[in-house]
Amino acid sequence: MSILKVARIAHPVLRAPAKPVPKSAFKHPLFQQLIDDMRETMYEYEGVGLAGPQVHEGLRLAVIEVPSDDERSQAEVPFMVLVNPEITPIGDETLNGWEGCLSLPDLRGVVPRLKSLRLDALDRYGKPYSLEAHDFFARVIQHECDHLEGDVYLDRMQGMRSLSFIKEFEDHLHKHEE
Ligand SMILES: [Zn+2]
Repeated sequence: MSILKVARIAHPVLRAPAKPVPKSAFKHPLFQQLIDDMRETMYEYEGVGLAGPQVHEGLRLAVIEVPSDDERSQAEVPFMVLVNPEITPIGDETLNGWEGCLSLPDLRGVVPRLKSLRLDALDRYGKPYSLEAHDFFARVIQHECDHLEGDVYLDRMQGMRSLSFIKEFEDHLHKHEE
């Protein structure tokens, strides 16, 4: 497995809508290797999700894993692969929460997201699955699916006043929340 190079904001691949993964891809060893490499890359940079365009692959593909010790999350999310994902809102309640992105290193900001959604996607072998996600898990799914449309979390922020460097966030904002 290898660590992939992560595209940073202003690289055109991050702003282009990704293409659906064709059925023929699932059997292809290179497709399976791409998923394993995305997993390694997500771990290397301590992300909780990574989308195809972030590793210069314009495919509707993302990986997610939220470790049990992630303080933002109520529950662990085991490693999962989202191929050609579709989101359906459950209700219209939104929550504000902090997000960062491996394509916008060192920054974070407050983003409103749906509290609950239904996800329909294919797994790494092309098998369809559905689930309901809430709170931080739903937030990560929405963040990754945005990447597949060429959007990043900055586009979803209601204003830029919360935009923070992670160091200053830890020094000034995080302390006050505790
Ligand atoms: Zn991101």
